[in-house]
Amino acid sequence: MTQAARPNRGLYVHLPFCPQVCPYCSFAVTTARPRLHRRYIAALGAELSARRPAGPEGPLDTVYFGGGTPTLLEPALLAQVLEQARDLFGFAPGAEITVEANPEGADAARFTALRALGFNRLSLGIQSFADQSLRLLGRRHTGAQAESAIALARSAGFDNLNLDLIFAVPGASAEDWGHTLDRALAHGPEHLSTYALTIEAETPFAKRERQGQLVPPAEEEQAGAYEGAVSRLQAAGFEHYEVSNFARPGRRSRHNWGYWHGGEYLGVGLAAHSFLGGRRSWNQRRMRDYLSTVEAGISPEAGGEVLDPVAARGEALWLGLRTSEGALLPPGLAQRERFRALVAAGYLELRGARVGLTRRGFVLADALSVELMELVEGVELQR
Ligand code: SF4
Repeated sequence: MTQAARPNRGLYVHLPFCPQVCPYCSFAVTTARPRLHRRYIAALGAELSARRPAGPEGPLDTVYFGGGTPTLLEPALLAQVLEQARDLFGFAPGAEITVEANPEGADAARFTALRALGFNRLSLGIQSFADQSLRLLGRRHTGAQAESAIALARSAGFDNLNLDLIFAVPGASAEDWGHTLDRALAHGPEHLSTYALTIEAETPFAKRERQGQLVPPAEEEQAGAYEGAVSRLQAAGFEHYEVSNFARPGRRSRHNWGYWHGGEYLGVGLAAHSFLGGRRSWNQRRMRDYLSTVEAGISPEAGGEVLDPVAARGEALWLGLRTSEGALLPPGLAQRERFRALVAAGYLELRGARVGLTRRGFVLADALSVELMELVEGVELQR
């Protein structure tokens, strides 16, 4: 089965536990102690069973245990959820089964156990190999621990490894970012994700920024770091297949590819999102709400929506534009003057029935996507 043969059927399992909350983190996470782990796993099991009838039809192509720090939980607890998912849905031959981990607390026995359970892809939250950047980010691991976590993952048999990296860290130098890319490449990962640090509302970083204690790098500096990474990684043989993602040939994240190309996925756990039968939904974000609903036999869904055809086209455009394949060109868009101007300026390119971002356009992916969605809405209103 090739990546594009049919839409992906995925399962996302959210494990929200972390030893501490990083000051830039806006995910649904908790530092709750291990006694809550078992209760949460039991709730995940109940939710999985309850949602099986409406879940993806047929065996799962991809399973993703994300967080949080899933590997903070005992492997036996993760095994419980994985086995239940296998029993309920079945896994397609060659299914991609990913688990996220952080360098802090990485240990050989745990990685070996995870590999033996059937996880065949490991995503490590390295973020940086430069100690100064790690300190600025409030991470507890060091560059040396990041190096050793990768070595442990390889020794445990993970031959499909993603490293998450962060650039545009306030106060970090261009050399720090260069060093991080050097060290990442030296380990020969199959996949790299590079994200600019975004300062999200309601985080300690947002407060520090308001107080003038944290100054994000200028936009040109961020663009330079991004473009530098694209050049380096492509020269090293990586395919730049999505705005923030790079893969060795054949090693794209199949799970994320499903998100970007209309694949169905069931998400279970705190704040998890699902997309099933054209309907998007999301779960309760507060632990006590999630647990109390599931334990009472009630759905933990906090909201949902069915996209109307215009919104669905806009979303497909937004998601497709972020990938190297681009998006199907919505009717009427190519005739708009502004669209033609963006093509002429070298931000967009037409590829038959599709439109894609150029290398220059990737730097401005978010702004261009918003602009194109507004243009599509304008076209629809005139119809
Ligand atoms: S390790 Fe990741 S998920 Fe956990 S608090 Fe830090 S950024 Fe958030």
